[in-house]
Amino acid sequence: MGEPRFSSYIHGQWVAGAGDHADENPADLDAPVGHYGMLDAATTAQAVDAAADAQHAWGLSTPQRRAEALDAVGTEILARKDELGRLLAREEGKTLPEAIGEAARAGQIFKFFAGEALRIPGEKLASTRPGVEVEITREPVGTVGIIAPWNFPLAIPAWKIAPALAYGNTVVFKPAEIVPGCAWALAEILSRAGLPEGVFNLVLGGGRTVGQAMVEHPRLDALSFTGSVPTGRALLVQAAARALKVQLEMGGKNPLVVLADADMDIAVDCAVNGAYFSTGQRCTASSRLIVEAAVYDAFTERMRARLAALRVGDPLIQGVDIGPVASGQQLDTDLSYIQAGHDDGAELLAGGGRVDGAGNGHFLAPTLFAATPGDRIAREEIFGPVAALLRADDYGHALALANDTEFGLCAGICTTSLKHATHFKRHAQAGMVMVNLPTAGVDPHVPFGGRKASSYGPREQGRHAVEFYTTVKTAYTAA
Ligand code: ADP
Repeated sequence: MGEPRFSSYIHGQWVAGAGDHADENPADLDAPVGHYGMLDAATTAQAVDAAADAQHAWGLSTPQRRAEALDAVGTEILARKDELGRLLAREEGKTLPEAIGEAARAGQIFKFFAGEALRIPGEKLASTRPGVEVEITREPVGTVGIIAPWNFPLAIPAWKIAPALAYGNTVVFKPAEIVPGCAWALAEILSRAGLPEGVFNLVLGGGRTVGQAMVEHPRLDALSFTGSVPTGRALLVQAAARALKVQLEMGGKNPLVVLADADMDIAVDCAVNGAYFSTGQRCTASSRLIVEAAVYDAFTERMRARLAALRVGDPLIQGVDIGPVASGQQLDTDLSYIQAGHDDGAELLAGGGRVDGAGNGHFLAPTLFAATPGDRIAREEIFGPVAALLRADDYGHALALANDTEFGLCAGICTTSLKHATHFKRHAQAGMVMVNLPTAGVDPHVPFGGRKASSYGPREQGRHAVEFYTTVKTAYTAA
């Protein structure tokens, strides 16, 4: 066959897994990126056991040792960002510049947490009792399961694996089924970073088999999940039943408000980037564009012109703006939402179907509907290049529409009014707010996460990651 075969990694050994599953290139269905084997539940359990066996010693390793391992991983990822980005673009479908940017970000995240390993915070206080001192320290939470989605196949695993290892935890990492190549590439780099056997494990396979076997394993201490709302909620119920510490990042239906006083160039850039770049497959995508009535027509015309000029095609080709949808399953979902838009009476303004002539891949035209707030395309997360445009009477109405959603990940506003920007930052019901910036595109060194149905548990990334990946100990000493 010629293509590489991606394996799992358990207790320092590569484990082939069963079957010869094609790792599809969504831009060229005739040329798979590679093949991979899937693990079964019993082998997955061995990975959790390996991680649990290794945890005590790793938790007691010096911060310097952990910092050096993470720094080595970050250095290698950065040095190989072009090659890793190319693999990512072929496997997931985002454009090569986006993919290289993601690879670089994964490297930066490992470097950031290499530093954090040396800065694990603690406190010392005087007791309320005489002659007693109190120390508050942070210890690893233990053996951590990581279940990741396919849309950021290097960056999301990095922002979970790096803090887990930095704070002395051991890891069992399950990537999404359609991105085994990026997961394998990350594991291969980690396998040469001087980690003791069992500290990092990769398990390739299905959510219901491998993912479930992880979650059900009694020696798993914590689970960090990013994926869909239904899966996240199901995992939350299971985690609650066994008191498993859990962190969930799920969907978004992020609003971008465009006020009449906005700089229209900035507003259109933010909308095009936020709604359509990375093929709209970002949980922070601006899938609801809420535009004040006075500029609604002008904004609509500019969006139509920009969308018509976007080039959809193979993500490796220079000048392509939008790659393919990541899988046939996601394409079906996107098309069914386009149908729902028509059924609900929304007006199609751009796109609306597959792109002919872009190749044998899952290519979908960037799609924009003029919608009303009750339409399914305006309420449910689509996770594709499909956005809903909503008309707002004024700022107050726009804010109400922005918050009228079960989700609360990110909210954006384009305005030149300090008053409205300040008010929006205070009153947007979201974990992250953007002013004159796309809703998607966040920094790696500050907290990431949302409210309402979008997230559950402590924040990811930045110094706030310490909350999830450590547990607090309070020690009293009578002098
Ligand atoms: P998407 O619809 O975007 O694929 P999912 O929530 O289904 O999102 O998948 C996100 C991750 O969760 C993937 O790694 C997937 O394999 C995993 N997963 C799916 N179902 C389960 C499950 N029942 N238990 C554990 N993990 C699961």
